[in-house]
Amino acid sequence: MRRKLVVGNWKMHGSRPANAELLAAIVGARPYGCDVAVCVPYPYLTETAAALSGGDLRWGAQDCSAHEQGAYTGEVSATMLAEFGCRYAIVGHSERRACHHESDLLVAQKAQAALARGITPIVCVGETLEQREAGDTEFVVKRQLAAVIHRLAHCAGEIVVAYEPVWAIGTGRTATPEQAQAVHAVLRTQLQAATGHGERMRILYGGSVKADNAATLFAQPDIDGGLIGGASLKAADFIAICRAAG
Ligand code: PEP
Repeated sequence: MRRKLVVGNWKMHGSRPANAELLAAIVGARPYGCDVAVCVPYPYLTETAAALSGGDLRWGAQDCSAHEQGAYTGEVSATMLAEFGCRYAIVGHSERRACHHESDLLVAQKAQAALARGITPIVCVGETLEQREAGDTEFVVKRQLAAVIHRLAHCAGEIVVAYEPVWAIGTGRTATPEQAQAVHAVLRTQLQAATGHGERMRILYGGSVKADNAATLFAQPDIDGGLIGGASLKAADFIAICRAAG
């Protein structure tokens, strides 16, 4: 039985007072009956760790350098993230693939760097609307995941996968539970074939998950929780989503 996982992706949002309020509310609403984490902007890792440590809530980053150290201005290594107690690092989010031109190979290298430091990469895959309409959804997500599986080899079973259709992120347009389930089933079959551990690996859905659609999405057999953007910034909404997973 896979335990559900709900991860908040704050993106580039927050302020120290607002974060303190949000984190206190999330802590105060425990227990959830599922695993819960927040992936915050780097400057907020210290205060997030302070607010959440000692309990069962986890935290992480929204990216991770593929490099260990060196002349990579602006990048943050997995070793540094580990110093802040990060459990997770999102890699390959579609906003980074699109805005920062991240390739499948780079995403795989980032996943490898995270795992090497004991951080679980949350590997995002997903098709654009154009790709879906062209009937290429399965091809695209399998190609994105295959790059990571190939790079990680025997460690591939340690990742979390997030299926995030690009057309559903921040748009208010959610994949139907059936659409999401169909892709999750494809990804699980791929994971099972490659690692032998597909049945125990978690595949999250992300893309306009809200308090009112979370339960039906999470009820699908291959949806093991969610990666939550906008709704993770509002305590009541995020808590309701976590409860829907519990
Ligand atoms: C995300 O950023 O990963 C995401 C799923 O965003 P939203 O929930 O706002 O669509």
